Amino acid sequence: MTSIAFIGLGNMGNPMAANLVKAGHAVAGFDLVAANLDVARGNGLTIAKDAAAAVKEADVVITMLPAGKHVLSVYADIAGKAKKGALFIDSSTIDVESARKAHAIAAGHGLLSVDAPVSGGTGGATAGTLTFMAGGAKEAFAKAEPVLKPMAGRIVHCGDAGAGQAAKICNNMILGISMIGVGEAFVLAEKLGLSHQALFDVASTSSGQCWSITSYCPVPGPVPTSPANKGYKPGFAAALMLKDLKLSQEAAQAAGAVTPLGAEATQLYALFNAMGNADVDFSGIINFLRGAR
Ligand code: NAD
Repeated sequence: MTSIAFIGLGNMGNPMAANLVKAGHAVAGFDLVAANLDVARGNGLTIAKDAAAAVKEADVVITMLPAGKHVLSVYADIAGKAKKGALFIDSSTIDVESARKAHAIAAGHGLLSVDAPVSGGTGGATAGTLTFMAGGAKEAFAKAEPVLKPMAGRIVHCGDAGAGQAAKICNNMILGISMIGVGEAFVLAEKLGLSHQALFDVASTSSGQCWSITSYCPVPGPVPTSPANKGYKPGFAAALMLKDLKLSQEAAQAAGAVTPLGAEATQLYALFNAMGNADVDFSGIINFLRGAR
């Protein structure tokens, strides 16, 4: 049993923390939203009065927060109050620069740290099958891996500080671009009189094959579990896709990488969001490509 503090008990954090409790760990939780604390209490967490109180006795501190500014402010608040030798794991999706700053804050207090963003959404968080992409020193990763296991289907050590966030935004830039490409192909197929199933049967086993077709097909029918079959209820909301694409473009600019398709995908998802689709699954962009809202 490990004593764990979990800060940020939203859509992802609460089911992730619940899996740690199920695995036999003692988890102290904190969030700013009372309703989220009620859910956490029901899941067997001990509720702390603030973040500093949550981390006081913890061997491992996990954060699952909206963005870089929240992670840096929480780290600045708690790093000096954590136990000597505690390990900090941030699983939020944040920009690489903030991730490296968070590592520096932890290191400044003699703490080991790992950035470990996830892929798999709320379904993966509940099922304990998330993919964790970890960045940090070997020693920190070795300590983090067994703690992450009850929440994970796969855990990949991607490199040093910030490498987990780098892997996450590169992966999601591919996803944003590929979903638009797949959507365009289905819209073209419709205009050419080709059935959705026929295009799926060919492309899912040919050179156009990708996750956006085989696991998350943006038209109803071929993949029964995809959000297209449920009126594009997320899943993975367009607002979160736009967030990740923006992070990819900030990183590309800072690193001097040329990502014209990533830039185009960011623009298209910005428009899609601005038209009132922030809460729609990101695969719903196919309707925008058809010219519909
Ligand atoms: P969420 O908004 O549901 O949860 C974030 C929680 O952090 C909220 O409950 C909020 O009250 C809390 N919070 C904010 N500031 C705080 C503070 N100072 N102290 C304590 N709590 C604080 O978001 P989510 O969907 O759980 O996502 C969390 C992170 O995971 C984000 O970075 C997101 O991009 C990433 N992510 C989300 C998904 C998804 O499908 N939802 C998938 C992969 C990654």
